Amino acid sequence: MRHILLWMARNRWLKEHLPRLPFARRAVRRFMPGETVDEALAAAEPFRSHGIGLLFTRLGENLANLGEAQEVADHYHALIDEIATRGLDGEISVKLTQLGLDLDPDATFSHALSLSEHAARTGGTFWIDMEGSAYTEATVAMYERLKAEQPNIGLCLQAYLRRTPDDIQRLLPLNPAIRLVKGAYDEHAAVAFRKRSEVDGAYQSLAVLMLPKAAAGELRLGLGTHDLELVDRIAAYGASAGHPKTCFEVQMLYGIRARDQIRLVQDGYRVRDLISYGEAWYAWYLRRLAERPANVAFALRQLFG
Ligand SMILES: Cc1cc2nc3c(=O)[nH]c(=O)nc-3n(C[C@H](O)[C@H](O)[C@H](O)COP(=O)(O)OP(=O)(O)OC[C@H]3O[C@@H](n4cnc5c(N)ncnc54)[C@H](O)[C@@H]3O)c2cc1C
Repeated sequence: MRHILLWMARNRWLKEHLPRLPFARRAVRRFMPGETVDEALAAAEPFRSHGIGLLFTRLGENLANLGEAQEVADHYHALIDEIATRGLDGEISVKLTQLGLDLDPDATFSHALSLSEHAARTGGTFWIDMEGSAYTEATVAMYERLKAEQPNIGLCLQAYLRRTPDDIQRLLPLNPAIRLVKGAYDEHAAVAFRKRSEVDGAYQSLAVLMLPKAAAGELRLGLGTHDLELVDRIAAYGASAGHPKTCFEVQMLYGIRARDQIRLVQDGYRVRDLISYGEAWYAWYLRRLAERPANVAFALRQLFG
């Protein structure tokens, strides 16, 4: 099922036709408050009242021309200003291909640097999402280049990739901000673990490796997962080593484990919710379905009203 859904995410014909169907638009609402930035900002308000921070991402990936990258950058600059005006604890998270990585890495660097400087001026971190493994090296290298210019930048790393332990060792001396996730793409066994138990094991070891650095203030650590048992195990390790609960932040996606996000804050953890919005939700939505087969049943129920 996971492989079929991830194949569907890449299929051009489906990408063009499926999003037009009303049932698909209804179903995606579970994970996305709407297609516009205003809907995303409105959805942020209840999180503020619960003491949950926000991440915003406008959906979209590879671009056809550099003009589109400029439009994406302008959009995020306006969003950073709007977050500051509203006094939200909000940060942005962006895919480098949205800023033109396929077309012109230097232009991507300039956009990302300018966005990170803008975010830093308003007290926030500029986060970089991690895409499929074809982009990993370019993304890590871009992160190093940006980090040399500007401290407030975070990077997502995927525990399922076999290279990630080396990437962490490579980045730790930079005092990085790292969001550790399991990984959402369909990767070959040569580059990624494919068994759930292996991915979970890799996630736990990497998080445990980074906790002392996070506790020492040498790393900002985000655990981007809804796997509460995994978070509990990592937190228990941290507690046994004398690290405070606040040395990492749990980051989850909008619409998933909403009640647990509130409970975690009440239990003394720091939590941040990632709100996605935008018209280009098709491939992203299919990846959410692939993460949990029960979501497919939910989508089908929308088909039958
Ligand atoms: C803040 C954040 C940012 C992310 N950024 C990236 C990125 O940049 N690159 C990338 O490759 N991946 C990213 N991901 C996705 C990530 O790689 C996983 O695919 C996703 O988080 C599912 O894995 P899990 O850790 O939640 O664990 P799983 O083992 O998949 O899930 C644990 C439990 O959480 C619940 N759950 C998980 N997913 C869903 C869902 N879709 N719907 C309903 N319930 C669910 C279920 O109860 C499930 O049993 C991000 C995830 C988060 C939370």
